[in-house]
Amino acid sequence: MGLVVKKFGGTSVGTSERIQEVAQTVKASREAGDDVVVVVSAMSGETNRLLELAEALHPNPPGREVDVLLSTGEQVTIALLTMALQQIDCPACCYTGAQVRILTDSAFSRARILDIDAEPLREDLHQGRVVVVAGFQGVDEDGAITTLGRGGSDTTAVALAAALEADECQIYTDVDGVYTTDPRVVPEARRLDRITADEMLELSSLGSKVLQIRAVEFAGKYGVPLRVLSSFEAGPGTLITYEEEGMEKPLISGIAFNRDEAKVSIIGVPDTPGIAAKILGAVSEANIEVDMIIQNISQQGLTDFTFTVHKRDYQATLDLVRENAEKLGARQVFGDDKIAKVSLVGVGMRSHAGVANTMFRSLSDEGINIQMISTSEIKISVVLEEKYLELGVRALHKAFELDVQPVPELEEEASES
Ligand code: ASP
Ligand code: MG
Repeated sequence: MGLVVKKFGGTSVGTSERIQEVAQTVKASREAGDDVVVVVSAMSGETNRLLELAEALHPNPPGREVDVLLSTGEQVTIALLTMALQQIDCPACCYTGAQVRILTDSAFSRARILDIDAEPLREDLHQGRVVVVAGFQGVDEDGAITTLGRGGSDTTAVALAAALEADECQIYTDVDGVYTTDPRVVPEARRLDRITADEMLELSSLGSKVLQIRAVEFAGKYGVPLRVLSSFEAGPGTLITYEEEGMEKPLISGIAFNRDEAKVSIIGVPDTPGIAAKILGAVSEANIEVDMIIQNISQQGLTDFTFTVHKRDYQATLDLVRENAEKLGARQVFGDDKIAKVSLVGVGMRSHAGVANTMFRSLSDEGINIQMISTSEIKISVVLEEKYLELGVRALHKAFELDVQPVPELEEEASES
């Protein structure tokens, strides 16, 4: 294949035995002729353990020190994996983020990568060594250790792949790819061979936590071929691609859902310019993120707003809007935190009408009431009563035949024979 960057997450390096298995996987790839750079996470549970230690000593631990602490998790794994590789006669060397010089800004706990000096790594590869790099961390201009946010090892891997112009960035994890939806909800859910980066972004931001969102954005920006695959069983995984002209586009790739939202309605507010800014401005000033927003057409000069926020912000939002409602002369404020959001995602929606129709019809066939709707180019989301979430997702999975493996294109097959 050439040059590959392989990233192994916490569960994949959770024990000595698993580290040995990773070493075997890496060695096999090396022996097949690849140059291999490995990025590892901390052993599973380690980052949380370190955070708890910090919080036991300081209610709001200082960012600089938190990053010094958290970065040790990955430092342990690079050393252990490199030893395991050497033990099976696979030459290897390891680097922390600072040693590579993964230069970041100084935003502790959520630093962004600015630059990577890939030359020394190339030299190691040239000498026949596997290079093992600590994920999730870098160093700022002043030499302070920084970390990239939870799940940040994915981003390290993608950034290294971009800097080294790798042929592929492979993210090994505890699932064997990206699925049409959560198999725990729909047993017929199918692994996708491919998905576009745009779809992947929608799915990850909607709560399918296979990859860190930032990693997908980064991969998209630099066109890094990205593959998600299982560290426990062999298989092709899911390749994340970039849309090309004339590419066959699936209508719907996946269904995401989210139980973490709550909705707040404000009824009978005078429909005057600036009203939305007043209601939602106060919410955003309180640092509460608003997701879906609906405003009704007005009747007799009065209108209604409904919007959703994260469940953890529900009570605060309700209090805030109630307080505001009096000033704005609104008739009523109420909310509901027993809702769920279900979204269909597919780049094929861009060129096909009727997706929304099929969606609404299949939900109504199950007697499920839709409370809110929002759409984007490649996504349709609805809010429904939480207790209907599973039923709704299953109905949609069936209606869009997501359980059926698409037939490969006939033309291509013909021209190959
Ligand atoms: N160890 C870090 C975390 O748990 C980074 C990672 O695993 O990607 O978030
Ligand atoms: Mg992860």
